[in-house]
Amino acid sequence: MNREFFPTVAIRNAGRTPSRLTKHVDWLVDQFSLLDDMIRPGLTVLIKPDLDCSRSPFDGQTTHPELVAVVGRMLRNRGAKVLVGDSPIVPHGCIESVWKQTGIADVARREKLKLVSFERDGTSPVAVDSRVYYIARPVIEADLIINLPRLRPNQWSYFTGAVWNMLGVMPGFQKGLHFKKSFGSDGIASVVVDVFSIAQPIFTIMDASGFGPLNGNGNRPSLLLASIDSVALDAVVADLAGLDPQMHSTTRLASEAGLGIGWMEAIKVVGPDIGPTGRKALRSQLESKMAWFSRLLIRSVSPLIEMKPQRNADQCSACHTCVKNCPTSALRLGSHGETVYIPQLCICCWRCVASCPSNAISIRQSPMAQQFLDQGRKSCAV
Ligand code: SF4
Ligand code: SF4
Repeated sequence: MNREFFPTVAIRNAGRTPSRLTKHVDWLVDQFSLLDDMIRPGLTVLIKPDLDCSRSPFDGQTTHPELVAVVGRMLRNRGAKVLVGDSPIVPHGCIESVWKQTGIADVARREKLKLVSFERDGTSPVAVDSRVYYIARPVIEADLIINLPRLRPNQWSYFTGAVWNMLGVMPGFQKGLHFKKSFGSDGIASVVVDVFSIAQPIFTIMDASGFGPLNGNGNRPSLLLASIDSVALDAVVADLAGLDPQMHSTTRLASEAGLGIGWMEAIKVVGPDIGPTGRKALRSQLESKMAWFSRLLIRSVSPLIEMKPQRNADQCSACHTCVKNCPTSALRLGSHGETVYIPQLCICCWRCVASCPSNAISIRQSPMAQQFLDQGRKSCAV
């Protein structure tokens, strides 16, 4: 990917007027003339929002659906075929509920954007050093990726940002398995940066407002930030919040890996200064006083979360669709044509569950995982 020597990060105060969102996005896009050459008719462009189970699209946990709508329309006007996809950690089969609940389903219908299920559409393995990641096929096959992260506090690294958002290109519970093996701030950040290195977006617009770009209130900045360099964008967010960007682990590791620029001295910022009040508000959004407690909780609970697929022999028609669809050969045929399961190879992508025509495979879980899944199901029930 071409990078400007000094990457630009553009900032826009999106205000509170929905009708002006298109104007704000146009202004942000206009700051990056490279995009005119890159987004060409006929290309398949995947929009990667940050979707989460939340009660509404306005509670600041998910990329605002109207931002997805405006960006999708801009891409379609340029002749691109537009897909929208994300795989949050939710129980298998819940992604449709997430689409509905976050408002993405409505805007996709209205704007004629195609929603893709990363769980259903298969994966391709990609190795980064000694680790192998199974990445959703629509991501691998897309010509371009547009990243629409939501700025959120994070217990490991102050905030999830532009780099972190690409983690959702790994379907299923794989993220959880990688995290379990890599506990600690830098271990988790290194998984995030590996995945970012596989799925690098050409352009990022971050929804960094208190309650969505259309719902900023007087106390919180209602910001959109954009860049062709996701790492630089995260560095600017850290700087705006009064943090050293190099203290933000994914920014530091991604810049060390040459995936972008993580030093303010080498980044050009255009747009309004959010001022001391905006900086203070942003910092307070990102500072979680209980972060140490959630880290401790996650660290102690995580070993108890176990999930595996389980085949119900009575329902199974021996069609072997699951074997054909298993990306790691954790399911394979034995010498007598029987299905054999090798737990060490299973990455919990749930492709076997999604592909079985007889619904013969369910997810077997430990009691703690059951709790986790029940919570997830409750929060994504519509
Ligand atoms: S896909 Fe379902 S029905 Fe077919 S072999 Fe696998 S478990 Fe059995
Ligand atoms: S057994 Fe199922 S969940 Fe495990 S890797 Fe294969 S398809 Fe994925």
